[in-house]
Amino acid sequence: MKKFVCFFLIIISGILFCGCSLNNIHSISQKLNTYTIEAEWDEEKKELNARQNLLFINNEQLPLKELCFHIYANAYRQDAQIKPINNQSLTKAYPNGISYGGIDIKKALADGKDCEYKIEGEDLDILTVLLDEEIYPNEKISVDIEYTVKLANVLHRLGYGNNAVNFGNWYPILCVYENGEYKKTPYYSNGDPFYSDCANYNVKITAPQSYKGAFTGEITQSVSSGMITYSASAMAVRDFAFVLSKDFNIVTAKLNDIEIIYYYYNDESFEQSLQIAKESLQTFADLFGEYKYSTLSVVQTGFLHGGMEYPTLIYISDTLQQESYFETIVHETAHQWWYAVVGSDQVSHAWLDEGLTEYSTVLFYEKNPQYQKTRDEMIKQTLNSYKFFVDIFEQIAGNVDTSMNRAVNEFSSEHEYLYMTYVKGELMYDSLRTNIGYDKFIKGLKRYYKDNSFCHATPQAQIAAFERASGTELNSFFNSWLEGKAVI
Ligand SMILES: [Zn+2]
Repeated sequence: MKKFVCFFLIIISGILFCGCSLNNIHSISQKLNTYTIEAEWDEEKKELNARQNLLFINNEQLPLKELCFHIYANAYRQDAQIKPINNQSLTKAYPNGISYGGIDIKKALADGKDCEYKIEGEDLDILTVLLDEEIYPNEKISVDIEYTVKLANVLHRLGYGNNAVNFGNWYPILCVYENGEYKKTPYYSNGDPFYSDCANYNVKITAPQSYKGAFTGEITQSVSSGMITYSASAMAVRDFAFVLSKDFNIVTAKLNDIEIIYYYYNDESFEQSLQIAKESLQTFADLFGEYKYSTLSVVQTGFLHGGMEYPTLIYISDTLQQESYFETIVHETAHQWWYAVVGSDQVSHAWLDEGLTEYSTVLFYEKNPQYQKTRDEMIKQTLNSYKFFVDIFEQIAGNVDTSMNRAVNEFSSEHEYLYMTYVKGELMYDSLRTNIGYDKFIKGLKRYYKDNSFCHATPQAQIAAFERASGTELNSFFNSWLEGKAVI
């Protein structure tokens, strides 16, 4: 996600924020779960009626008796205790007044037979499908779920606004199984509180014909009786999102075999927006390693924050001014490397992808001098902003916790989360680069990308990649930054 810092607001109110090759993918996809979803968008009711099949392969080393899914859509319901939007952002998120959504699970079947399920979790945000028999390692099971997602009128990952309907984190997605249990963290308002495995997706969405749709993956479309059906397929992606709008204009560009598609409704500089998306893909492929997918959809939409990343699809907020708009395209494109392909636990270690993505943006501008933003200027500005934050908050709170490696819900405020994750993260990677030198730094990033593609990277995996590339012990460097001991 991309957020922007408004220093002016700090002073007046204390509220800071405005906001492998394809063959390789094919072989990886053989071992992954496959989601097949068919759904219809009910424009009148603002509901999506869906039937979802999951072909699940037990890749764990032990038998499983249940499957647990995040149902993030339920966080938008009226009586949710853990809200996905914090109180300071409500007016901006709900310009037409508070509105509610949710998900209604209607049925679950395992291998074609009705089965029991429970809605549980910390805030009724987990769907647990109970299986009659254990699934043993390497065995498969087919699980069907029928549900209706009700959308709120909210400018968020899931919700509708005046110009577009956002479908991010909308369907039941399997929880990651780790250390003998499912990770069931709820939809916190800080950060992008998501953690998921790569899977294959075949998704058909039907809507009134006047809707144009942007999707994760490659799409085909057909029209019948005034309705349009989009069929999207994506292999080895860790989430699936789409956006519908009657207002979209569509322009495309090619980078080798990759199709870049820009969906927009209010952008006089649409050619430049498409161009910077293309330059971002090229720059990051040169720096880190090749882009793994065949499409990238850049989607202008109503969104509370600057932007949001999904595999092969990024949201860019329609309220951003041009420079921030371009920067957000760069940032969200960098997430295709640090989040989409190299996954990580974004709840526990948000700096791992956000800090690196912020620094990747610096690398982009350094490599593209036509935008007239130098590394020195960007780092100087970021450093000043960080020091200003720490000074102000020391005055207000007496002291500031500058540790970075905390779960998103362990930060005392969204401000603290943003500064310790994005801002300090950018400074940490710049300091690392200065310490080990540019060539070893880039070599480390290439190593990190290659070793962790389609997996979940840990902080240790990242440190190890830089250590191998530089021949230098770096645990103490990272620990001093992550624990808040480094003098900045
Ligand atoms: Zn981000």
